[in-house]
Amino acid sequence: KRVEFEDFAVITPTADISVERHGGRAKCLQRLIRLEMPVPRTVALSFDAVHQIAAGVMPDKPAILAAFEEGALLSVRPSSEDQDWGGPGAILNIGMNDARHARLIDEIGEAPANTIYRRFVQAFAIDVARLDPDMFEASGSDAHTLRAALDAYEDEMDEPFPQDPARQLGEVLRSMARAWEGTTARLLRQAKGAPADAGLGLVVQQMALGLGPEESGSGVIKFIDRVTGLPQVTGRYLSQSQGRAALTHGDGVFYLTRDERGASLQDHCPEIYAELLKWGEVSRRRLREEMEIEFTIAGGQLAILDAVRVPRSSRAAVRVAVSLAEDSIIPREEALSRIEPRALTELLHSQVNPDGLRDVFARGIAASPGAATGKIVFSSAAAQASAARGEACILVRRETTPEDIRGMHAASAVLTERGGMTSHAAVIARGLGLPCVVGVSDLVLRWRDKSLRVPDGRVFHEGDVITIDGTNGEAIAGEVEMLPPALDDAYRALLGWAEEVCDIGVRANADTPADAGTARDFGADGIGLCRTEHMFFDDGRLTVMREMIFAKTLDDRAAALEQLLPMQREDFTRLFQIMSGQPVCIRLFDPPLHEFLPHSREGLRELAEALDMPLSDVTRRVEALAEFNPMLGMRGVRLGITVPEIYEMQARAIFEATIEASKTGEAVVPEIMIPLVSAKREVELVKTRIDGVAAAVRTEQGVDFDFRLGVMVETPRAALRAGEIAQHSAFLSFGTNDLTQMTYGLSRDDAGRFMGAYVQQEVYPEDPFHTLDVDGVGELLLIGAERGRRASPNMTLSVCGEHGGNPESIAFCRQAGFDYVSCSPFRVPVARLAAAHLAL
Ligand code: PEP
Ligand code: MG
Repeated sequence: KRVEFEDFAVITPTADISVERHGGRAKCLQRLIRLEMPVPRTVALSFDAVHQIAAGVMPDKPAILAAFEEGALLSVRPSSEDQDWGGPGAILNIGMNDARHARLIDEIGEAPANTIYRRFVQAFAIDVARLDPDMFEASGSDAHTLRAALDAYEDEMDEPFPQDPARQLGEVLRSMARAWEGTTARLLRQAKGAPADAGLGLVVQQMALGLGPEESGSGVIKFIDRVTGLPQVTGRYLSQSQGRAALTHGDGVFYLTRDERGASLQDHCPEIYAELLKWGEVSRRRLREEMEIEFTIAGGQLAILDAVRVPRSSRAAVRVAVSLAEDSIIPREEALSRIEPRALTELLHSQVNPDGLRDVFARGIAASPGAATGKIVFSSAAAQASAARGEACILVRRETTPEDIRGMHAASAVLTERGGMTSHAAVIARGLGLPCVVGVSDLVLRWRDKSLRVPDGRVFHEGDVITIDGTNGEAIAGEVEMLPPALDDAYRALLGWAEEVCDIGVRANADTPADAGTARDFGADGIGLCRTEHMFFDDGRLTVMREMIFAKTLDDRAAALEQLLPMQREDFTRLFQIMSGQPVCIRLFDPPLHEFLPHSREGLRELAEALDMPLSDVTRRVEALAEFNPMLGMRGVRLGITVPEIYEMQARAIFEATIEASKTGEAVVPEIMIPLVSAKREVELVKTRIDGVAAAVRTEQGVDFDFRLGVMVETPRAALRAGEIAQHSAFLSFGTNDLTQMTYGLSRDDAGRFMGAYVQQEVYPEDPFHTLDVDGVGELLLIGAERGRRASPNMTLSVCGEHGGNPESIAFCRQAGFDYVSCSPFRVPVARLAAAHLAL
């Protein structure tokens, strides 16, 4: 057969080697060689070559062998395009045969020579000839063990162990090439993001023998801690050894740096240690990366076999990128682009305070870091309902399935009886940044009576508060003391740079002073959505709220609102103070009133007692408020039109808080947003009343202030009529949650039931509540934005639905010329970095 490809290239500083054709390892070795590191002679085989080898077309083996010293032993290692895609294991000592064994005995002694030969026979038998590994387990450096390995091979294969180095090399190359093309290997690398046709290169390298009379051995060294990213020399060196596997066991292990636990390379071979530090610094500066270097000491001489990017935690990745930029090794833009936005979530989690008291009731696998407290729910539907009420919940399931995704989105943490690190719950929770504990097998979950029996016999019910510590794999009864996320200097530096380059604003959806504090700590450009109804679920306030709903006369209602006013004023004053001069957008009351009413008989009785009304009256009133389709019912501005006193009270609270907060800090210009608008007249009516309140407050207090009134675009009609709606608004903020719900006619709260089937059968590419549907909902956004801006060119445009934190959706908004996105506080850093990536 004719060989049509460029067989191989000796890696020299000027050879034509590329990542795309020869893989990352080959290219990296060339860089090391250019830096004049002592790399043994190496030959690279291209993806093409390896592909053909798998198909049975061999390269010119004698020519490859001729590239090395006569009689050299060789290693072959994989070189895929991306280090993370993996590849077949390295095979060492190719070329070993009886004659070479005899010569090695003279050169380095009998025991090392036996060991090298035995290891090669074993590796060849297992990895190339695919013989049963159990038959090739023996270790030892005596002639007998070597003979036994050769005999086992020869018995099984019914032929002598191959002596010809060219044949050995050919078989090694073929087995590695075929291993790469196998189905399992392909699926594994595709799971890590490799394309279906990802190629494999191979590098053939002359061995530096780590065995022999003078100091010989092998090791790895790196210069940072892989968890924190802080500078620290770590690694191991094993005297009289070859290859990485040897480092995990055996005697003769040295620490690298001087260490009280045992001998160190620093003391044992100070010159070599110093040389390694030098190469570490050179590779950091010139390869612009933290590298882990694999080395061999052969007869007292250092050889560098390979170097790979140190695998690292997200936290470490941030620190390394920032420190390289601070040392002017890479530009800041590159530091930014090296960090995947979603990776930041790992840095942002609350943790259980290890010094605090905690009542652990079950332990399992720590599947996703961080900790959260909430009420137990046993179904995704209950989790969604809980989230809609603004209550944190913990989703407890036997295991999760794709149908649970919506529930997981809604939950603060997840606990499952079954599963492991890669179970559905674990994978999804990590993706969402949700604390998660899985595999808590001694739980008894009783679906029917919604209870959870734990090992010590206690029984928890739906609604009981528990805490999930996903960092330590613990489930804890009740609330515990939490530590806020550790946002260190490197993280802050990175986000500061992101803010500088970012050309679309990132605000936070924050309803409470606590949320606002988080938003400010995470560097939000203000609050884009304060859902005021979330301020009323507090126990004390709920009663006043209910009094207001049940008021029989206008006077009674006014009296209840009079009580709510100071509470709201206080809320808003604190929000303004915390955000110190940054914009705060307050949405007027949105959900249906009946959400504030009890649904159980017991709750109704309690309410009757509190309001001093007959139970039958209360029941009748609650029934009268019930709606068949509350999400399309008496919500948002419809409430503002029919019970205008509520919005008036809120507007007054906002204006009085504005004056209050402006006394001590920067002048506040509040933004007031009207929800669920579908007609221009709604805006006119609300605007007239709010202007009236503003005028009254100005006169009463003798103080002037500004405010901006805007509209939340979350019905399709509001998007279509944005032109006329814009005449009365200073800004338009697209509520893509409701807009998605109404565009698809898809219930936000019920879609979970069939979303899995829909996504699986590719009806929708993704859950449109998670990633913005750019084709449909996106078109409404574009129409609304265009009509709004045409009517009022300085119109501020934003998105404040859940999509505001999604990197793909941010790209769409930026493209469409939006001024900012607003998302939950914890997603602000991710959104900020994603936005910065877009601007780079
Ligand atoms: C929306 O509908 O997108 C929105 C932000 O409001 P809510 O989620 O409170 O309905
Ligand atoms: Mg909405």
